[in-house]
Amino acid sequence: MAETLELSLQGTLKKIFGFEKFKGNQEKIINSLLDGTDTFVIMPTGGGKSLCYQLPAIISEGTAIIVSPLIALMKNQVDAIRGFSNETGIAHFLNSSLNKADITQVKKDVLAGKTKLLYVAPETLTKEDNIKFFTEFNVSFFAIDEAHCISEWGHDFRPEYRRLRPIIDKVGKRMKKNIPVIALTATATPKVQLDIQKNLGMQDARLFKSSFNRGNLYYDIRPKNNVTKEIIKYVKQNAGKSGIVYCLSRKKVEEIAELLKVNGVKAAPYHAGMDAKERAKVQDGFLMEDISVIVATIAFGMGIDKPDVRFVVHHDIPKSLESYYQETGRAGRDGGEGNCVTFYSYDDIVKLEKFLKGKPVAEVEIGKALLNETVSFAETTACRRTFLLHYFGEDFDEKKCDTMCDNCRHPKQKVEGKADVALAIEAVLAVKEKHKTKDVINALMGLLTSTGKTYKHNDLEVFGEGCTDDKDDRYWSAVFRQALVNGLLTKDIENYGLLKVSDKGKAYLKKPYSIMISRDHDYDDTEGDDAIVASVGKGAGALDQALFNMLKAEVKKLSTKHKLPPYAVFSDPSLEEMSIQYPTTIEELTRITGVGQGKATKFGASIVALIKKHVEENEIDRPMDMLIKSVANKTSNKIYIIQNVDRRINLESIAKSKLLSFEDLLREMETIVFSGTKLNIRYYLDEIMDIEKQDEAIEYFRESENDSIDAALKELGGDDFTEEEIRLMRIRFFSEYAN
Ligand code: ADP
Ligand code: MG
Ligand code: ZN
Repeated sequence: MAETLELSLQGTLKKIFGFEKFKGNQEKIINSLLDGTDTFVIMPTGGGKSLCYQLPAIISEGTAIIVSPLIALMKNQVDAIRGFSNETGIAHFLNSSLNKADITQVKKDVLAGKTKLLYVAPETLTKEDNIKFFTEFNVSFFAIDEAHCISEWGHDFRPEYRRLRPIIDKVGKRMKKNIPVIALTATATPKVQLDIQKNLGMQDARLFKSSFNRGNLYYDIRPKNNVTKEIIKYVKQNAGKSGIVYCLSRKKVEEIAELLKVNGVKAAPYHAGMDAKERAKVQDGFLMEDISVIVATIAFGMGIDKPDVRFVVHHDIPKSLESYYQETGRAGRDGGEGNCVTFYSYDDIVKLEKFLKGKPVAEVEIGKALLNETVSFAETTACRRTFLLHYFGEDFDEKKCDTMCDNCRHPKQKVEGKADVALAIEAVLAVKEKHKTKDVINALMGLLTSTGKTYKHNDLEVFGEGCTDDKDDRYWSAVFRQALVNGLLTKDIENYGLLKVSDKGKAYLKKPYSIMISRDHDYDDTEGDDAIVASVGKGAGALDQALFNMLKAEVKKLSTKHKLPPYAVFSDPSLEEMSIQYPTTIEELTRITGVGQGKATKFGASIVALIKKHVEENEIDRPMDMLIKSVANKTSNKIYIIQNVDRRINLESIAKSKLLSFEDLLREMETIVFSGTKLNIRYYLDEIMDIEKQDEAIEYFRESENDSIDAALKELGGDDFTEEEIRLMRIRFFSEYAN
């Protein structure tokens, strides 16, 4: 019997899913469920959890009810299963996206016994009107996918998930049978695991826990300095590879996506503020590799299964290690390269803490505890992989990490912090637990600020005690963070973040123990994000006049060849910059002001060849770190304009919504195209000008000596063209022919 079952499991796997063999624990899990045992599966993302309920559902009698938190996930899965079978009725979902007629059809198929898998949203399952329906057919088992949603300690708490057990009991009672339950999740710390089991009444369930180690992922935490520039540099170094960049805010998402585009990366933004159609388009584009980098808020990634994502960059550190693991886990699912780079600054933790303000006490406590773990992880000097796996209740020998995290690859210098941690605690007591970290550090450093004066900190014994040659305030920040992370100090976030000494901290003073402090992470001194420079500084280097003259001559040649005036090929300011920066590849050429991807590809080949030869022949030392191009100053208006022109929004509306006059808008658009970015305004021009008139202007610009508007007005003007029209046409000309 067992043998035939196994045979038929194998057979079904091959026949229906087309897989040769089971992955990891899949077969054991399926057998456990088919035996009628409650089964609890903890398996990392991409491990193949779905199959653990899909396959048994198909071969069992009756219909399996699958609880799943996201409408998009359900739809994907149902589509996938229908793909395996000729019978659309085999899988259905019930959720708020269906209309009455859909629902009737679903219920009809289920009652007729056609349906093997019925996906439901938790709120659908617990809805009083539906309960009767769920008792009218033979339920084979319940599957609770993404079961961590049950726990407040999980990263995605959904209150409705806590009300499932009573429903399962009700259905079982009416059907007079014990219906088995399988719960599945990709992230469960020991705490979350216990929570899930308690809430689902599954303490006796058979547990299948796979290792969470993702050996192919490289974990890297970097100080958040010049983060925008660093991200662009990183993405460009990984050109052509698929990647995800996560940011906390929508605004950042849009900004970085646009900057990446301007720098020649096929990037697109993705966040909850975009409509469903746009989002689906971006997702598809990513899967089809028309888009190589998605810049997203965390809304992106749930349920998308792209196996060859090569990097996941976090612009901001996630609010918990569950989220971190989940999000980084989207890299390298095929077992190949997967680089996970997170930019971390303690300021971001402070920001995340502020989000907690005003929430219910329990939630604040949980949120703080999760953040503390995140800080420890980010600031640890030990193996990141070992730390992370330990957090998920798994022992891992750090030798096995090899060099697959930054700390193992580049070990950091650590110092014994025992005495200094004690001094920090004493200082907090000395200021009567009435001050924030910064003020306590100032007191320790002997820095008398106005706060210090008011509270007479200079009279304290600890005043200036922390000021020695080798200890600065950055070092002390690290000491205080370690004290916080170890629970020796606590921070009262409802009360301006005043530091308090915990009982554990008081005990520490009596009996201190070793706490290591890392010296060379500087995670708290971060410059803003905006340190990118708009254009390569004038006077940054001397102009190479010989090169400039050669470039001028080359441009003349190109201009004849392409039947365009020289200024439309490369402008003089661009040539000057090239004569300072010596770009020798097309990629580097795009970083020159006024040169976009289009222009560089169209006209760049002979230019960079010429520069390369010149550099080699004259053994020129090129300035090493070329600057990253920004959309220019006052970025936000420009980005808004580029995006909305992309969306073909009427120019008057764009101006209005940014409170710009049309003249201002024109000027902004001119700066954009002169800096080398395309703006396709054909849609607008076609509304206001007929084609022949446009052709006439284009013809003019192709043949004119320069791009002066006055000259154009003289030639074209009269009654035919207004100045505004000419300027608009010049924008079109530059976008289409020069950029
Ligand atoms: P999870 O829900 O655990 O994140 P999924 O169920 O979405 O993972 O499965 C991840 C990927 O693994 C899917 O592409 C799935 O088709 C594939 N997969 C699942 N089981 C097998 C198997 N036995 N052999 C090969 N591929 C499998
Ligand atoms: Mg899944
Ligand atoms: Zn390591």
